[in-house]
Parts: sequence; C-alpha cells; structure tokens
Amino acid sequence: MKDKAISDLILEEKNRQTNGLELIASENFASQDVMDAAGSVLTNKYAEGYPGKRYYGGCEVVDKVEDLARERLKKLFGAEYANVQPHSGSQANTAVFSICLKPGDKILGFDLSHGGHLTHGSPVNFSGKLYDPVFYGVKESTGLIDYDMVRKVAHKEKPKMIIAGASAYSREIDYKTFREIADEVGAILLADMAHPAGLIAAGLLQSPIEYCHIVTSTTHKTIRGPRGGIILMGKDFENPFGEKLKNGNLKKMSSMLDSSVFPGNQGGPLEHIIAAKAVAFGEALTDEFVDYQKQVIKNASALAKAFMERDYKIISGGTDNHMILIDLRNKNISGKQAEEALGVAGITVNKNMVPFDDKSPFVTSGIRIGTPAITTRGLQENEMEKIVNLIDDVIKNFENTSHLESIREQVHSMMSQKPLFAETVKS
Ligand code: PLP
Repeated sequence: MKDKAISDLILEEKNRQTNGLELIASENFASQDVMDAAGSVLTNKYAEGYPGKRYYGGCEVVDKVEDLARERLKKLFGAEYANVQPHSGSQANTAVFSICLKPGDKILGFDLSHGGHLTHGSPVNFSGKLYDPVFYGVKESTGLIDYDMVRKVAHKEKPKMIIAGASAYSREIDYKTFREIADEVGAILLADMAHPAGLIAAGLLQSPIEYCHIVTSTTHKTIRGPRGGIILMGKDFENPFGEKLKNGNLKKMSSMLDSSVFPGNQGGPLEHIIAAKAVAFGEALTDEFVDYQKQVIKNASALAKAFMERDYKIISGGTDNHMILIDLRNKNISGKQAEEALGVAGITVNKNMVPFDDKSPFVTSGIRIGTPAITTRGLQENEMEKIVNLIDDVIKNFENTSHLESIREQVHSMMSQKPLFAETVKS
C-alpha cells in the first residue's frame, strides 16, 4: 500500500490484535478468504436493485455473487428467504421495522440494561424515537428472561411487534414461548440472533427460523464473516403483517422486505462485502465450523466455571452460548475501571450494565466476556484457567500500572505466536 500513514496504522492494529487477548463477545477474526473477498474489485461496482433486476448495467457477475450468498445463507439456516444487502445489523432491523410498523406503533423489546440491544427500543436510537417501546427483562433472582413478564406486558400493551434477541444474555432464548405470546396478542415476532447466529448455524442452539416471522442478524460476530447484516424468513410466513397482508404469502412478503432494504433504507449494495458474506457462509457450512462452535461453547463454560471458583458473580450462574456477563460489585471495581485496567494488560473486554445495575451506562457494574475470537485463535478450555488467573490478577491490582504492564508481557508471550485465524480449530 502506498499510503504510508494508513498502512502503518493497519500494521499497528494487526499487532494489537495479534499480541492481545480479544475477549469482546461481539468480535471475531475473519479468515483470509473472507478478507480477500472484502478487499476485492467488487468494491468498484454499483448494483442498486437485486439479481436480475438492477438499475445499473454490468451486473452479470455481481448477480452471481449475490445469488450464491443468498443460496448459501438459506441452506445454512434452512430459510426460505434471505436478504444479504443490509450494511449492518442495525440496518437490517431498520428495514424490518420500517416495513412492519408505522411511526408510533408499540414494540416490545428486551431492556437494554438487562441485555437487549439499542435497536430494540432504546430512547437514543431510531427504534425508541420513531416507535413506542415497552420492555421485558430478566428475573433478579435467576438472571433469566422473565417469560411471565413478557406475557404480562404483551397482554397489557398489545405491541405490534415483539423482539426476541440480545447483546448480553448468556442463555438460550425460548423462541417457542415467544411465538406463543406473539400469537396470543397478534404481534409480529422478530428474532435478532446477531450474537448466537454462528452457534445456531452449527445446530448447537435452537433456531428461531421455525418460530419467528422474521429473523435478523449481523455477520461478523459468531458467524465470523465481514461486518454486515442479513434478513431471513422461514417456512412460517403466515400473515405476520396483519391487515396489510391478509393471506400473506412468502413471495409478497419477500418483495416487501427487499424493497424496505433497497430503495427504502439503503442505496447501492456492498457487493465486495456480500462476496465476503458468501465466503463466510460457505465456511459455516463445513464440519470444521461446527467443531469451532463446539469449542466456543466449551471455552465459555470453562471460563464461567473458573470465574465462579474465584468468587465472581456470573449473571444467571453460567452460560449456554459464547459469552458470560460478570457482576463485579463484590470485587469493588466498576466495569469502566475493569475495562481500562484490562486494556493496559492487553486484555480487551467491554464494560456492561448488569441487570438492576445501580451505576450509569458509562460506568457500569459489569463486564461482558466472549470466546468467539480466542477460539478462532486456537485456544482451548485448558487455557481458560490461565486467562481467568490473568484477569483476576488485573482486577486485584487495577491501580498498579507497573503490575498491569507485567501482565501485558505475559499476555504478549501467550498470544504473539498464534495466527489470528488458526486453520484448524479442533475440539
Ligand atoms: N442486534 C444485536 C442483538 C446486536 O448485538 C448488535 C450489535 O452489537 C446489532 C443488532 C447491531 O449490529 P451492527 O453493529 O452491525 O449495527
């Protein structure tokens, strides 16, 4: 690359990623093939529209790319409909909301401070500004989604849409119960599986496809693709748009969702990213990917166990997926302080609200830790104990900068020789 300033910064970032312990639950390391596609000549092409129906000439090749991406994605999740154009998970949700709802309509989402996502009704996001959000949460005693509360709020508020999905929830989501509740009140059920999508693709967690009218996801978290979003529908497309689509059929709904993405909310699709998504979906269809996801879960469970043995409070007492949420209030350190001290030690996590938190979102009482990225680097459950010891050491000594720097050296020697994307992740 001729631009020295940017190439130096890319190298600096590569070194940071290589030498550190990446424990952010929403991050991963895409394969070289995914990155090659993302950095390809496909970035040069305008292709407004969809395969076979474009507003630009010269789309015959990108049509094949996008078709391949859609077909692989449908196969991966057993879906009947797939849209691979959303630029991000938020864009995917925007497209679904804007076709299913009118401004002011009521939506029922997972409270952000209990583990939900900004796009599920937060007042600082379009979803909370344009629509009328009400929320469900977790039970304080168990840390598990309170399905009685979901039902109660749904019956009282009669939302037009219910959103099942989370950014910081370590347990399996019961889509069947969500669907029962949605049917009781005549709501559209949207699953946002952005976090566990890779585990679902591997068949290790229940799939929302058979229960939810519409499913959205990101492609860069557990799926390990490029940054982006997707929209899916399964076989059950029975009239989710209410009056608007009496006797609704998949074809009609598909074209409504397609036009909500383009031209409703986006312009030209990113065909280089769509190609990278296709590569990632191809990788996700392999047995190696299933082995990788099994290891992601084993690593997360091993982390949870090792933390609990050191008297850390894990919300819900464990994990079914790729992440854990830790309440640090018994350790006399805030989430913000922990995130900063761990950063000095070369360990990247994010501060996170815990359910019923008494601190602000800028401070928080917790941290969220995930295993997708370290598992891609080849770490296995026997190394989780060591990671927990390092984190515990940081938390006990968070104000001792020279000690944190000595931990950084240990992290560096543990990680620097490992490739970002280990070719074989065997369980
Ligand atoms: N939905 C959920 C549940 C998420 O966790 C996220 C990202 O963290 C998103 C949507 C949004 O994804 P993006 O950052 O690609 O807009």
